[in-house]
Amino acid sequence: MGFAKERICQKCGFKFSELDEISFYLNDDLTILTEEEARGALGYEVLDKVNKSLISGKLEEFYCRECDEIVNFYIVCKNDSRLSEDELSELIKDLSEYKITEVIFEIGRDLIFAHTNIEDEICPKCNNKIYGYFEMDVCPKCGDEQFIEFYQLYE
Ligand SMILES: [Zn+2]
Ligand SMILES: [Zn+2]
Repeated sequence: MGFAKERICQKCGFKFSELDEISFYLNDDLTILTEEEARGALGYEVLDKVNKSLISGKLEEFYCRECDEIVNFYIVCKNDSRLSEDELSELIKDLSEYKITEVIFEIGRDLIFAHTNIEDEICPKCNNKIYGYFEMDVCPKCGDEQFIEFYQLYE
């Protein structure tokens, strides 16, 4: 049990959720990329899959104003495959369903402590600054200050 946070703009309706505990992992054939929330009652099961996978890490979500798109960062914490960082980067981008993705490496870092660095937080498509949940005091889309935070209870 816990709370998930979401901000909703009262003016333009833009929504953004806090995605702090989303893990990702690849299957043994390296053909399927799964993203799962590692919290709540199912958290341990997800972490078990993450630990058993050759390639795993954490997902962080940002918003790019210029592209008007969500930008997803895959932070790779484990790479026991034979792929180089460049090959793995390409593979993750191919398998991801998101339009704008970036892959960074923090090999050996615990998932809880893996985060993007501020200097990485640039849109890979247009090179402008992107915004994470904690930087969103105003709506990043329309600039309105009524960007209100809601808490949702999850099991
Ligand atoms: Zn952009
Ligand atoms: Zn707005």
